Amino acid sequence: MRKEIMGVTFDDVTLEEAVAAGEALAAGPGFSYVVTPNPEIVAMARQTETYREILNGAGLVLPDGIGVVHAAKILGTPLKGRVPGIDFASALVERLARSGLRLFLLGAKPGVAEQAGENLKKRYPDLLLCGTHDGYFQTDGPVVDQIRAARADVVFVCLGAPKQERWMAQYGPETGAHLMVGLGGVLDVYAG
Ligand code: UDP
Repeated sequence: MRKEIMGVTFDDVTLEEAVAAGEALAAGPGFSYVVTPNPEIVAMARQTETYREILNGAGLVLPDGIGVVHAAKILGTPLKGRVPGIDFASALVERLARSGLRLFLLGAKPGVAEQAGENLKKRYPDLLLCGTHDGYFQTDGPVVDQIRAARADVVFVCLGAPKQERWMAQYGPETGAHLMVGLGGVLDVYAG
């Protein structure tokens, strides 16, 4: 069930529920994307209607941070709790490794996505990592083509907000991927 908090409709889910829903979307036939708004992102959405529509058009809208959870409570629409993007990502990767779905990492400075991928492969040897690309490209077409050629099921899109949400909504369907997850600085964390 979705609950509206300052214009953004959040999914009222636990981490486990979110990951189960994410895996089902990744294994399904369509395309959807996951957003993890923190208070900064909610504030941006209040300013810009098109951005708010992109957030609310996501398959999953997860409250990434205690600030959103506190605000929800104060506003009388309490949420089960926070679902940090990095926790969602890690739990999803574990499931992808088990189910044989293909993961592509997009974003961060050159070399970071590759290093993040190597570290994830060490932790989850069965993970099917099908490609990486840095986040400082000038043209979108070749990146879309690379994701499509890699036959990615899931793409972690780490371009920072609001760029990553706009990118997923605009280019996601063309890539043939089933699920994209906007994760900010998560590749830097995995690479570190
Ligand atoms: N980034 C990118 N392309 C850009 C701008 C940013 O790949 O054009 C990356 C940046 O290198 C970093 C991530 O996006 O890895 C943003 O991290 P940050 O922690 O600033 O984002 P937040 O989590 O606050 O949205």
